Amino acid sequence: MSTLVFLEAADDLGLQALTFARRLDPAVEVVAVGDAPSVAAKVHLAEITGYAPQAWARAIANLGPTTVIAAGTDRGNEVLAHAAVMLDGVFAANVIAADGDTVTRQRWGGSLLEEARLHGDVKLVTVAPHAVAIEETTGEPDVQAFQPELAAGDLIARVAERVEETTAGVSLADAPVVVSGGRGVGSAEGFAPLEELAGLLGAAIGCSRAVTMAGWRPHTDQVGQTGTKISPDLYIPCGISGATQHMAGCKGAKNLLAINSDPEAPIMASADYAVIGDVLEIVPAITAELRRVRGLS
Ligand SMILES: Cc1cc2nc3c(=O)[nH]c(=O)nc-3n(C[C@H](O)[C@H](O)[C@H](O)COP(=O)(O)OP(=O)(O)OC[C@H]3O[C@@H](n4cnc5c(N)ncnc54)[C@H](O)[C@@H]3O)c2cc1C
Repeated sequence: MSTLVFLEAADDLGLQALTFARRLDPAVEVVAVGDAPSVAAKVHLAEITGYAPQAWARAIANLGPTTVIAAGTDRGNEVLAHAAVMLDGVFAANVIAADGDTVTRQRWGGSLLEEARLHGDVKLVTVAPHAVAIEETTGEPDVQAFQPELAAGDLIARVAERVEETTAGVSLADAPVVVSGGRGVGSAEGFAPLEELAGLLGAAIGCSRAVTMAGWRPHTDQVGQTGTKISPDLYIPCGISGATQHMAGCKGAKNLLAINSDPEAPIMASADYAVIGDVLEIVPAITAELRRVRGLS
């Protein structure tokens, strides 16, 4: 086998990676762990229970590929980094295009594109989220289960228990609308009006790193270079200045409505719409108007 796609899940990011791989090699095969993804391809299904990055990488290495492609998720990058060591290969993360040995990849949170040449017999690449439009194919997966030959220590680092978040609602990464708060929200309690607006819009709540650093919201809510990358139809950053590292996470948004007291804030350069004012006055006013037009108050 030459090209192998590591498919953590047949979700949008996984299918983007599969599309990317098929363009390079239409005969691409898939390796998955635990559950067989429903994709039209030959699927090598490794029998490993739970997330164990080194063991998952070993499953990839056991198949002896010369090219490995995965989605540029936390897990995709972690597993391929281990696999690169096992296969004595070269690894490029966050790639958006490939031409022979040359890849174009995102650096500095996507603010810089780098062309890099991969020198090595085995090449491993993760695909930057939302850089490729999915091309659907039809057909049933041809699944072959296998037991990877694990080395001593491959299962030392593994997920032993999963504690689900108690908060219900849409996930930040997939939400069509995201209402996000920054330092300008002022406090953890200041997020209550944002949550009310998000509830009316069916939106997820996001935030800046200033907010997670202050302990007002959990890191899972953070949008940005070191947080979640989002591409909603509408992004509403409230009291967020628009630092490069924040914008790296939301530049896929189709529309951006900035709410900020400073008309000179950097976020204005990326805004499609803006309301200049105090977030704690503007957000409740929008919520009240939404309630009024929907006959809710
Ligand atoms: C390696 C690295 C990685 C990073 N990763 C991330 C990341 O993933 N995500 C991220 O967000 N940041 C990240 N950062 C931090 C980033 O550089 C900024 O410091 C951070 O985004 C600033 O957050 P903020 O916009 O909430 O705060 P500030 O920059 O302090 O901006 C606050 C804004 O609120 C406005 N404001 C104040 N009061 C009000 C009010 N009452 N009503 C309306 N507006 C008001 C102000 O005008 C200002 O524009 C990273 C930094 C580094 C060095």
